[in-house]
Amino acid sequence: MAEITRETILQALGGVRKTDGGQDVVSLGMITGVVVRDGNVGFAVEVDASEGEASEPLRQECEAAVEAVPGVLSVTAVLTAERPAQRGAPSPEQAPPSAAAQPGLPENQGIPGIGAILAVASGKGGVGKSTTAVNLAVAMAADGVRVGLLDCDVFGPSIPRMMRLSGKPDTVGDSQLMPMENYNVKCMSMGFLVEEDTPMIWRGPMVMSALEQMLRQVRWGELDILVCDLPPGTGDAQLTMAQNVPLTGAVVVSTPQDIALLDVRRGIAMFEKVDVPVFGIIENMSYFLCPHCGERSEIFAHGGARETAAKLGVGFLGEIPLDGDIRATSDAGQPIVLAQPQSPHAAAYRGIAHRVLDLCRTAQDGGERRAPNIVMM
Ligand code: ADP
Repeated sequence: MAEITRETILQALGGVRKTDGGQDVVSLGMITGVVVRDGNVGFAVEVDASEGEASEPLRQECEAAVEAVPGVLSVTAVLTAERPAQRGAPSPEQAPPSAAAQPGLPENQGIPGIGAILAVASGKGGVGKSTTAVNLAVAMAADGVRVGLLDCDVFGPSIPRMMRLSGKPDTVGDSQLMPMENYNVKCMSMGFLVEEDTPMIWRGPMVMSALEQMLRQVRWGELDILVCDLPPGTGDAQLTMAQNVPLTGAVVVSTPQDIALLDVRRGIAMFEKVDVPVFGIIENMSYFLCPHCGERSEIFAHGGARETAAKLGVGFLGEIPLDGDIRATSDAGQPIVLAQPQSPHAAAYRGIAHRVLDLCRTAQDGGERRAPNIVMM
């Protein structure tokens, strides 16, 4: 059977017309964020806010068209609408908890109660993005900042292990989940919602709606910052996230040997394309600090990240050494900023955490991109 690709999906959707005899939804640019994973397909149908509920039959038609493609196992289509920016987000008290879940409600562009939203991204996997996200979140919380940590890697969640959390979140009301909490950080991850050995087919179809739910149907309460650990790379899921989530800014984690690669540029370009400020690059596994003599060895060509950041016109936020203790504590669910608070590594994470918080405050004061103009309906 032919492999199902984004193109296959768009081809199928090319047969769906917005109105009888009118143009098809693909030519009209209404289809965004196509995600294909092992035969499970997700995408968004962009409509005018005023046509929200009336577009439900069109959404269903799109789903049916893709379901008919041989080899497609499941389809999730969501309606999204652009709307003009609104000022004055309602407080959590004003906004009923289930408001975000109800189609057609005047949902605000931000998430009630959440101050800044930070994306932690990387051009590829295995560069220490999740380890960095966890240590930054924990460092901020240790300073009294109210922090949430959202694991956006629906397919390979690592936050539960790194935050030493297990079990299922409590449900409140009709459809809200309580975040799980450890080290004073409120967390939500797909890892809490599916068993580790659940076949991917159960997870696959839901990328976007799962992210939306984890953002908006979790009772985060009042947070100063929500740190979002993005999946590695710059695929459709990440782009959708960058587009649909009111991100205050993004940081990109890279190792020195990967910094020059196209992946990092792509990551930065992805955010710039959707007007999310890139706060800068964090160089991970930057140098080796000998645990015995304290000597610093530059294993990989060190310093490249600073140069690359300058070339790309983004900031350089700091460097984290390659260190066995960082790995061991991260993998054991005891982030080094707490396990060894006096270590130079912990200090490095704290320094970056402070810089990032400052940048969030500045971005919020500027206020330009606080209001995203796309909401899920
Ligand atoms: P990603 O999220 O980019 O896929 P992870 O955070 O899961 O990467 O890290 C991949 C592996 O590298 C993990 O085993 C982690 O403990 C280890 N690791 C991350 N940062 C460091 C570091 N600075 N020094 C040593 N090991 C690290």
